Amino acid sequence: MIASSSEYLPLEKCPALVLNADYRPLSYYPLSLWSWQDAVRDVFLDRVNIVSTYDREIRSPSFSMKLPSVISLKHFVKPSEFPNFTRFNVFLRDKFTCLYCGDKKNLTFDHVVPKSLGGLTTWENVATACSPCNVRKGGKMPKACGMIPSVQPYKPTEEQLHRNGRHFPPNFLHESWLDYLYWDVKLEP
Ligand SMILES: [Zn+2]
Repeated sequence: MIASSSEYLPLEKCPALVLNADYRPLSYYPLSLWSWQDAVRDVFLDRVNIVSTYDREIRSPSFSMKLPSVISLKHFVKPSEFPNFTRFNVFLRDKFTCLYCGDKKNLTFDHVVPKSLGGLTTWENVATACSPCNVRKGGKMPKACGMIPSVQPYKPTEEQLHRNGRHFPPNFLHESWLDYLYWDVKLEP
Protein backbone atom coordinates (compact mmCIF):
# COMPACT_ATOMS: atom_id res chain seq x y z
CA MET A 1 0.00 0.00 0.00
CA ILE A 2 1.35 3.40 -0.90
CA ALA A 3 0.20 6.07 1.52
CA SER A 4 -0.16 9.62 0.32
CA SER A 5 0.44 12.71 2.39
CA SER A 6 -2.22 13.63 4.86
CA GLU A 7 -2.56 16.28 7.51
CA TYR A 8 -4.48 13.85 9.66
CA LEU A 9 -2.20 10.82 9.79
CA PRO A 10 -1.74 9.53 13.33
CA LEU A 11 1.76 10.35 14.53
CA GLU A 12 2.75 6.72 14.87
CA LYS A 13 2.02 6.31 11.14
CA CYS A 14 4.67 8.89 10.34
CA PRO A 15 8.04 7.14 10.45
CA ALA A 16 10.96 8.71 8.63
CA LEU A 17 12.91 6.80 6.01
CA VAL A 18 16.57 7.18 6.93
CA LEU A 19 19.06 7.63 4.12
CA ASN A 20 22.81 7.49 4.38
CA ALA A 21 24.79 10.57 3.35
CA ASP A 22 24.83 9.17 -0.20
CA TYR A 23 21.01 9.16 -0.26
CA ARG A 24 20.71 5.39 -0.28
CA PRO A 25 18.65 3.84 2.49
CA LEU A 26 20.77 3.13 5.55
CA SER A 27 19.45 -0.42 5.42
CA TYR A 28 16.90 -2.28 3.33
CA TYR A 29 16.21 -5.39 5.37
CA PRO A 30 14.81 -4.27 7.65
CA LEU A 31 14.11 -0.94 6.02
CA SER A 32 15.75 1.85 8.03
CA LEU A 33 12.84 3.69 9.59
CA TRP A 34 12.87 5.94 12.64
CA SER A 35 9.93 7.03 14.73
CA TRP A 36 8.92 10.67 14.31
CA GLN A 37 10.38 11.39 17.77
CA ASP A 38 13.82 10.06 16.84
CA ALA A 39 13.76 11.85 13.51
CA VAL A 40 12.81 15.21 15.06
CA ARG A 41 15.39 14.78 17.82
CA ASP A 42 18.17 14.25 15.29
CA VAL A 43 17.01 17.21 13.22
CA PHE A 44 17.48 19.39 16.29
CA LEU A 45 20.82 17.80 17.09
CA ASP A 46 21.84 18.75 13.54
CA ARG A 47 22.78 15.19 12.67
CA VAL A 48 20.42 14.82 9.71
CA ASN A 49 19.01 16.82 6.81
CA ILE A 50 15.30 16.83 6.08
CA VAL A 51 14.83 15.56 2.53
CA SER A 52 11.05 15.37 2.42
CA THR A 53 8.14 15.92 4.82
CA TYR A 54 4.66 14.72 5.63
CA ASP A 55 1.84 17.26 5.55
CA ARG A 56 1.31 16.32 9.19
CA GLU A 57 2.54 19.03 11.55
CA ILE A 58 3.51 19.03 15.17
CA ARG A 59 2.91 22.21 17.11
CA SER A 60 3.69 23.81 20.40
CA PRO A 61 2.78 27.38 21.37
CA SER A 62 6.09 28.69 20.10
CA PHE A 63 6.91 26.39 17.24
CA SER A 64 5.55 24.18 14.48
CA MET A 65 7.14 21.88 11.95
CA LYS A 66 6.09 19.37 9.34
CA LEU A 67 7.21 15.90 10.27
CA PRO A 68 10.09 14.59 8.20
CA SER A 69 9.21 11.66 5.94
CA VAL A 70 12.73 11.25 4.57
CA ILE A 71 15.95 12.31 6.28
CA SER A 72 19.58 11.84 5.34
CA LEU A 73 22.56 11.49 7.65
CA LYS A 74 25.10 14.29 7.55
CA HIS A 75 27.95 11.85 8.00
CA PHE A 76 28.33 8.75 5.86
CA VAL A 77 28.09 5.43 7.69
CA LYS A 78 29.72 2.44 6.03
CA PRO A 79 26.89 0.05 5.22
CA SER A 80 27.24 -3.58 6.18
CA GLU A 81 27.80 -5.82 3.18
CA PHE A 82 25.85 -8.71 4.58
CA PRO A 83 22.27 -8.56 5.81
CA ASN A 84 21.25 -9.98 9.19
CA PHE A 85 20.41 -13.65 9.44
CA THR A 86 16.69 -13.36 10.16
CA ARG A 87 13.65 -15.44 9.33
CA PHE A 88 12.34 -12.77 6.99
CA ASN A 89 15.68 -12.49 5.19
CA VAL A 90 15.89 -16.28 4.66
CA PHE A 91 12.42 -16.20 3.10
CA LEU A 92 13.44 -13.22 1.00
CA ARG A 93 16.63 -14.93 -0.21
CA ASP A 94 14.50 -17.89 -1.29
CA LYS A 95 11.79 -15.63 -2.77
CA PHE A 96 9.19 -17.00 -0.38
CA THR A 97 9.32 -20.35 -2.18
CA CYS A 98 9.84 -23.89 -0.89
CA LEU A 99 13.28 -24.97 -2.13
CA TYR A 100 12.08 -28.57 -2.41
CA CYS A 101 8.79 -28.37 -4.32
CA GLY A 102 8.36 -24.71 -5.29
CA ASP A 103 5.19 -24.19 -3.24
CA LYS A 104 4.60 -20.71 -1.85
CA LYS A 105 2.17 -21.62 0.93
CA ASN A 106 2.63 -22.77 4.54
CA LEU A 107 6.27 -21.81 4.54
CA THR A 108 8.63 -22.73 7.31
CA PHE A 109 12.34 -23.54 7.62
CA ASP A 110 14.23 -26.74 7.04
CA HIS A 111 17.72 -27.66 8.23
CA VAL A 112 19.26 -29.24 5.11
CA VAL A 113 21.63 -31.25 7.31
CA PRO A 114 19.25 -32.06 10.18
CA LYS A 115 19.97 -30.58 13.57
CA SER A 116 19.94 -34.10 15.00
CA LEU A 117 22.91 -34.91 12.74
CA GLY A 118 24.85 -31.81 13.70
CA GLY A 119 23.39 -29.37 11.15
CA LEU A 120 23.75 -25.74 12.17
CA THR A 121 21.27 -22.90 12.03
CA THR A 122 23.19 -20.85 9.48
CA TRP A 123 22.56 -19.21 6.12
CA GLU A 124 24.26 -22.18 4.44
CA ASN A 125 22.14 -24.84 6.15
CA VAL A 126 18.68 -23.31 6.45
CA ALA A 127 16.29 -23.54 3.51
CA THR A 128 12.78 -22.21 3.04
CA ALA A 129 10.46 -25.22 2.92
CA CYS A 130 6.72 -25.74 2.96
CA SER A 131 5.35 -27.63 5.96
CA PRO A 132 4.58 -30.84 4.02
CA CYS A 133 8.15 -30.98 2.64
CA ASN A 134 9.56 -30.17 6.05
CA VAL A 135 7.62 -33.05 7.60
CA ARG A 136 8.43 -35.43 4.75
CA LYS A 137 12.13 -34.74 4.98
CA GLY A 138 12.13 -35.05 8.76
CA GLY A 139 15.52 -35.86 10.21
CA LYS A 140 16.99 -37.33 7.04
CA MET A 141 19.96 -36.22 4.95
CA PRO A 142 19.03 -34.81 1.50
CA LYS A 143 20.43 -37.71 -0.49
CA ALA A 144 18.94 -40.33 1.83
CA CYS A 145 15.42 -39.10 1.09
CA GLY A 146 15.99 -37.72 -2.41
CA MET A 147 15.08 -34.19 -1.33
CA ILE A 148 17.76 -31.84 -2.60
CA PRO A 149 17.15 -28.07 -2.38
CA SER A 150 16.68 -26.53 -5.84
CA VAL A 151 19.24 -23.90 -4.83
CA GLN A 152 22.02 -24.57 -2.35
CA PRO A 153 21.38 -22.22 0.60
CA TYR A 154 23.95 -19.43 0.74
CA LYS A 155 24.83 -16.28 2.63
CA PRO A 156 23.39 -13.46 0.51
CA THR A 157 24.81 -9.99 0.09
CA GLU A 158 22.63 -6.90 0.62
CA GLU A 159 22.63 -6.56 -3.15
CA GLN A 160 21.25 -10.05 -3.72
CA LEU A 161 18.49 -9.56 -1.16
CA HIS A 162 17.69 -6.19 -2.63
CA ARG A 163 17.18 -7.76 -6.04
CA ASN A 164 14.53 -10.05 -4.54
CA GLY A 165 13.16 -7.36 -2.25
CA ARG A 166 11.85 -5.32 -5.13
CA HIS A 167 9.26 -8.05 -5.66
CA PHE A 168 8.22 -8.06 -2.00
CA PRO A 169 7.96 -4.43 -0.89
CA PRO A 170 7.08 -3.55 2.71
CA ASN A 171 3.42 -3.19 3.62
CA PHE A 172 3.66 0.51 4.25
CA LEU A 173 5.36 2.86 1.82
CA HIS A 174 4.98 6.59 1.91
CA GLU A 175 4.91 8.21 -1.53
CA SER A 176 7.94 10.34 -0.69
CA TRP A 177 10.04 7.21 -0.13
CA LEU A 178 9.64 5.88 -3.63
CA ASP A 179 12.35 8.10 -5.07
CA TYR A 180 14.86 6.41 -2.77
CA LEU A 181 13.65 2.82 -2.96
CA TYR A 182 13.42 0.60 -5.99
CA TRP A 183 14.62 3.36 -8.27
CA ASP A 184 16.31 0.70 -10.34
CA VAL A 185 13.08 -1.13 -11.14
CA LYS A 186 12.54 0.69 -14.41
CA LEU A 187 16.01 -0.21 -15.63
CA GLU A 188 15.18 -3.90 -15.68
CA PRO A 189 13.87 -5.29 -18.98
ZN1 LIG B 1 7.56 -28.01 -0.45
